[in-house]
Amino acid sequence: MELTYVSATCSGCGTVDKVAVDSADWERFIGGELVQRVWPHKTDDEREVLIGARSGLYYCPICWDDLFAEENFE
Ligand SMILES: [Zn+2]
Repeated sequence: MELTYVSATCSGCGTVDKVAVDSADWERFIGGELVQRVWPHKTDDEREVLIGARSGLYYCPICWDDLFAEENFE
C-alpha cells in the first residue's frame, strides 16, 4: 500500500493540517466518491482535511468552532 500525504491550509489562520491516506483511496475520493464511503472510520477532523484539500477551502477545528459560534450568535 502506497501512502499519500494530503494537506490542507486553514483559510482562517494558515495552519496546515495533514492526513496520511492510501493512494488508491485518495484517487477514489478525487474521482468523486463520498468521503464517508471511502473512509468510514476516519474522524470528522480528518475528513475535513481531506474535503478541504479537494475543494481548496479549509478551516481548522479551532477556526471552524469560531465560525460556528458566530453563526449561533446571530
Ligand atoms: Zn485555523
